Amino acid sequence: MKASFNCRNCGKCCSAFYAQINLTIGDLIRISNFLEKPASYILKNFVGINPFGDPENPTKFSYEMGINMPCLLRKNEKCSVYDARPLNCRLFPYWVLVQDFVFNKKEMIDASYKCMNNLGLKRGNLRKYSDYSKLVGNILIQEASLTDNILFKLNIKHSIDLSKNKNYQEIVSKYKNRKTNNNLKQLETEKIRLAKKIFGKLKDSDIKVIEDEAKKPFLLKIVENNTKRLNEAEDILV
Ligand code: SF4
Ligand code: SF4
Repeated sequence: MKASFNCRNCGKCCSAFYAQINLTIGDLIRISNFLEKPASYILKNFVGINPFGDPENPTKFSYEMGINMPCLLRKNEKCSVYDARPLNCRLFPYWVLVQDFVFNKKEMIDASYKCMNNLGLKRGNLRKYSDYSKLVGNILIQEASLTDNILFKLNIKHSIDLSKNKNYQEIVSKYKNRKTNNNLKQLETEKIRLAKKIFGKLKDSDIKVIEDEAKKPFLLKIVENNTKRLNEAEDILV
């Protein structure tokens, strides 16, 4: 029996602006190889240095490589790079389901993502989801650290704190008494948009730095090995 979850193809995980998907240097290399296009093409067309919120501190954002949403790699209602999709995309929604069922973190389930509706999961599958999430998660931790080393070579601001920003304060006061799920998502969207505006666009000089780094032999070796492990991880769900 196939253990993979039932994707209802609503497209939300690939399109909601606040559904942030960060990208490792390994993801960039895998997508670049899969599409047979240089890393600079992927960076210019599908990826940015985007602000990612800190769950512990709602005013703080750090900048990481991430998919620009809605993701333009989704074509004809499908992921056009499925075999090379980013680690974050591979983990969704498995890690959320594990958090919910194993650690009882109900707040993580958002039924507006259709795969999280009427779950009816089997215990045996949960074990597989957990094993799969651990394997992919470990690769993510390793590649995220390599990615951070590269991002620190860029001529960018690496984090911002919006707490003193006037526009931020206006946004927060606008949503002060509106606590519905939709409003909270809208608030999140406006915060990310503001942080993105403050940061600006990825410069060509920064794209060149990332592209040069993505050609380094030691990195290619690590990513090649991780890609093999990812293919093995897919077998867990069969
Ligand atoms: S949110 Fe869930 S059901 Fe919708 S496309 Fe993404 S994985 Fe599939
Ligand atoms: S890379 Fe594929 S799975 Fe990930 S957000 Fe884009 S279309 Fe969706």
